Amino acid sequence: MSSLFDKHALLKASFENLSALSPRNPFAVVIERPLSASIGLIEGRETLLFGTNNYLGLSQSGKAEEAAIETVRSMGVGTTGSRIANGTLSLHQKLEKKLTEVFRRRHAMVFSTGYQANLGTISALVNKDDTLFLDADSHASIYDGAKLSGAQVIRFRHNDPADLDRRLTRAKDTPGAKLIVVEGIYSMTGNIAPLREFVDVKKRHNVPILVDEAHSYGVVGKDGRGVAELQNCEKDIDFIVGTFSKALGTVGGYCVTDYDEIDLIRLCSRPYMFTASLPPEVIAATLANFEEIQSRPHLRDQLQQNARRLHAGFKSLGLPTSQFVSPVIAVTLEDVPTGITFWNKLLEAGVYVNLSLPPATPDDRPLLRCSVMASHSFGQIDQAIEAFGEVGRTLGVIS
Ligand code: PMP
Repeated sequence: MSSLFDKHALLKASFENLSALSPRNPFAVVIERPLSASIGLIEGRETLLFGTNNYLGLSQSGKAEEAAIETVRSMGVGTTGSRIANGTLSLHQKLEKKLTEVFRRRHAMVFSTGYQANLGTISALVNKDDTLFLDADSHASIYDGAKLSGAQVIRFRHNDPADLDRRLTRAKDTPGAKLIVVEGIYSMTGNIAPLREFVDVKKRHNVPILVDEAHSYGVVGKDGRGVAELQNCEKDIDFIVGTFSKALGTVGGYCVTDYDEIDLIRLCSRPYMFTASLPPEVIAATLANFEEIQSRPHLRDQLQQNARRLHAGFKSLGLPTSQFVSPVIAVTLEDVPTGITFWNKLLEAGVYVNLSLPPATPDDRPLLRCSVMASHSFGQIDQAIEAFGEVGRTLGVIS
């Protein structure tokens, strides 16, 4: 009889290889305490945070903190129930109403995480008789939503509307419903989807499209509504999914749409029905941060300026990054040992970024993934560029 953990032998071996190369576990870094949005205490030292997704610094928003404290005092710290049992407070409905106003949609559903928003929306919209068309670089929550749904999955080449078009044409006689899923800004590379071209394809084939704007809400678009707003095609997007855990600085997820049938999903979406709902203080903080995003558009301008500065700095060093300038800026390295050493040396130089290793990366190469914040000063960005330059030269990645 095999043991429960026999199947993890490969994982164990690759973790042992990683441990031999890395003085610390890159997947268990402890931020002892954030000292501000952009500086945290790691291994007892003040460290620049370039890997948090806290794009606007709103995890530390004073207004959100006040709203959370006040709400905790009046409502307690948790709901202890799911949305379909005792876990719906008037605050959940207020948050859903806020989402409909922000996105100018008829309906909104709130989930306990962004992961569950994808899981819960996708698995309720399609089932085993249907077909999903997924961008090959989709986030794990999209793939997991697909698995939970049981639908047939057809992957198309990343950011390639022509490939999607071909695959939809090939599947034109396939019975069942169809759904296209793409992201606005891709979480690992910072690549931005050509949504307008995807919309042309979806219209040609009359197939609805869902866009995950997890990394783009609050970040791009004149009013911060994401890539669909930026590319002026919001009215053609059928479902927008997102998270509160990036620009909004808290935790939770959502789906907004104009389909009136969305309320049916509340009765069949397992990740919505069978988990505790968001605690009230998180909702209060999220609502406060929606106001912050709406009333402080200069945060987005600052974020874009900072992203441009980091991107230009990496380019001038000769580091390979995406052609897109977005707050997610990843440096691609050729092999895993270099990635691990580079990451450790950056941390030792006082700069924390995310280390992403294959198979979790798009083309099986390691990534040093940086996320820029509006709260970074130019000085902090230059310090990060300098650290990348020094480590890159030491390791022979750049000359
Ligand atoms: N979608 C994308 C594209 C993501 O990158 C993430 C998280 N990194 C999620 C969904 C899940 O969001 P959350 O972490 O808030 O559950």
